[in-house]
Amino acid sequence: MVLEGPGRPLREADLAEPEAARGELLLRVLACGVCRTDLHVLDGELARPKLPLVLGHQIVAETEDGRRVGVPWLAWTCGQCRYCRAELENLCERAEFTGYDRDGGFAEFVVADERYCFSLPDGYSDLQAAPLLCAGLIGYRALRLAGDGEALGLYGFGASAHIVAQVARHEGRRVFAFTRAGDDEGQAFARELGAEWAGDSASAPPEELDAAIIFAPVGELVPAALRAVRKAGVVVCAGIHMSDIPSFPYELLWDERVLRSVANLTRRDGEEFLALAPRVPIRPEVE
Ligand SMILES: [Zn+2]
Ligand SMILES: [Zn+2]
Repeated sequence: MVLEGPGRPLREADLAEPEAARGELLLRVLACGVCRTDLHVLDGELARPKLPLVLGHQIVAETEDGRRVGVPWLAWTCGQCRYCRAELENLCERAEFTGYDRDGGFAEFVVADERYCFSLPDGYSDLQAAPLLCAGLIGYRALRLAGDGEALGLYGFGASAHIVAQVARHEGRRVFAFTRAGDDEGQAFARELGAEWAGDSASAPPEELDAAIIFAPVGELVPAALRAVRKAGVVVCAGIHMSDIPSFPYELLWDERVLRSVANLTRRDGEEFLALAPRVPIRPEVE
């Protein structure tokens, strides 16, 4: 499926089989998840996708010699810039991303730099493994950067949050889930996955939170989350795109509250998270 321009529907197309350059793998796609980022690219909310483009960056695929690998969002980094040298390759000045700068997995075949592919844990079907590769992995990075506070708020209970909730419970944390007003189904789903409280994102949690992660691309949630965390609490914005954040009084940030974003992933995040997944064990819900 090909994207020819922002705001246009994906078009089915016959493309030439891609050719693997040195260091790259030619992969047959077994499954590819849909991420919110794919929709942001489709809607023209991210600045500079290559066009035409094959979207998709949660790719479970098979190598020519029959190994199963995962291809994530991070496709290539330079290894030389100040960020790469500081173990922040997620911020590489010249980074390239799968399904954005390079063709992704909504196709039969894809090529990927072998150094950025992950081996996948056994015990996950192709479909179940796909959401681990972005929803899970970037959720995991967001959880790490939220610190190790016990009471954790999750704003937007979708693909990422339902995996992060399982990791957080495994680590002995307490999960508070925030959904759109009236989303009873989402709130029930969060409780099933171990959230001790689930409610509307506009409402206050029953107690002060140590940290919160915002997965929904909604700027209004930033002041709401700052209001919900304790002094020195951390609010992490985990999405690649968010609507404008409304202005808010300084007292919401005062008392050493921290507001930060999370961008992309490092290979180390992937290795840690994919080793952790079967130990939790994370059970992704796919449809
Ligand atoms: Zn993604
Ligand atoms: Zn770099």
